[in-house]
Parts: sequence; structure tokens; C-alpha cells
Amino acid sequence: MYRLILISFAMVLFGALDAWGAVPVPNLKPGTEIASPSVRAPGARYFQAEIPYPVLKPAGSSLQHQKPVIVIDPGHGGTDPGAIGVRGTHEKTITTKAANELANRLRKSGRYKVILTRTDDSYVDHDDRLRIARKGQADLFISIHADSAGKSAKGATVYTLADRAKGRQKRIVNNQNWILDVDLSAQSDPVGDILVDLATRKTESQSDAFAEILLNELSGKVDLIGNSHRRAGYYVLLAPDVPAILLELGYLSNSEDERRLQTKAYRDKITSSVERAIDIYMSQR
Ligand SMILES: [Zn+2]
Repeated sequence: MYRLILISFAMVLFGALDAWGAVPVPNLKPGTEIASPSVRAPGARYFQAEIPYPVLKPAGSSLQHQKPVIVIDPGHGGTDPGAIGVRGTHEKTITTKAANELANRLRKSGRYKVILTRTDDSYVDHDDRLRIARKGQADLFISIHADSAGKSAKGATVYTLADRAKGRQKRIVNNQNWILDVDLSAQSDPVGDILVDLATRKTESQSDAFAEILLNELSGKVDLIGNSHRRAGYYVLLAPDVPAILLELGYLSNSEDERRLQTKAYRDKITSSVERAIDIYMSQR
């Protein structure tokens, strides 16, 4: 078993380096699935056969001739209303509107393939939201929410994945057989640690880069909360190979934020800033 782990690790490391362009490998094009049958030794079972996703595929490396894929995730929905505003506005109503408006804007530009995790008032669980992102080979995942806190807190916040969520990320990767047919659940397993690190390092820096670009675009156009780039362990940010942010549009617990988030004009300020941020991010990555 140990040999199998080492062989698997070597295969994945080699493949990952190839896909990142660090090592030229004959017969392997960038973005090639490492787990494809053509590179798997006869009889060896390095990965679960049913894994439908590229393995350790660096984020943002979808086929060059395709448009970048943006997955937009309206928070909550259906039986889960999310936060309730001071005047009774449901978070899910605001997130559905903002997400659909952003999707329309991006589709109209013709520059992106846009996938929504939901378009109507339906409940989609967190696993499915992540599956949609990974199956769609998302270049960017944007989860849209509206916050709730004390009355005085107002303005937008952008979240990326916190370091303290790494253990959870590793467990999910393992439980869902996202990367390897090895047990990554043991925290002390150095092979597992290295594998997940490999898979996540580039994703993290891309997520952070997009968060900073987005905050720069939002700044001056809409209110931002102090310390507006925050980190949290939100489940929808856990995919190891999809750069992801969670955008809190504002605070429904603040009457001014609640009122303006109900207006399309204010949401347009936000969605146009998100579109510009995506344009900049895609031109720089
Ligand atoms: Zn929410």
C-alpha cells in the first residue's frame, strides 16, 4: 500500500508539474487529465475510476480555445431564506436577483461561459454547489450573499478561504475522492499534506488576487466594511482547484444597506464592478 501511495504521489506530482508547465512531458498536453487511461500503468489503480474531474488540474487552465467559465452561486434559496432584513427582506431574494443580473451582464459581454448554481428560489446543498463548480471546470467561483450583524455594520465584504479551514478541505477532498485513492484524513500523513498543498497553493493565490482586484473595483462605488478582505472556512470555498470568493453584498441588518440592496441601481454598481474585476483578473492571470 505504501508503495502504491508513493507511486501515486510521483505520478500526480509529475503530472501536476507538467500541467503547470514546469516540466515538459512528451505526449501530455497542458490540461491533460493525469488520471486518464493513457498514462495509467496497466492494472494500476491510482485513482477512483468514477472521478469525473481533472486531477490536480491547476485552476484556470481550462482549454485555451474555450471561454473562461464563471460559476455564480446565489447563497441560500428554497427553504433556506438566509439572513432576514430589518424590514423582512430575505437574503435569498437579494442573492438570486444579484446573481442573475451578474450572469446576464457577463453573458451579454460574450466573453464568458456562465453557470449558475441555481436560477430560481430552489434549495441547493453545499456539496452540489461545489460539484457544479468542479464539473463545469470553473475558472472562477463567485458565491453571493448578504450579511447580518449589528445595526451599524454596513457595506460589502469579500471572503477567501482561511488557513484554519485547510484540515476541513483535506477531509472533504479525501471523503469525496477528489484527488487520490489514498487516505488523506490522517493529519500527520506528510504525503497527503503535500498533495493537498500542491492542489491548493495556486488556487489560493488566484482567489486572493481576484479578491483584491474586486475590492479595488468596488472601492469608491459602493460602501465597503472596514477590513473588507476577510477569511473564513465557508464550505463553498473549499474546492482545491477552483479559485473562489464569497461576496457579501452588504448587511440586511442595516436599514440603509437593506433599502439599497433592494434597488437594481445599487446592485448594478456591484455587478458592474464584479464584471470589471473579472475582466482584469482574466487578463492578468
Ligand atoms: Zn448568506
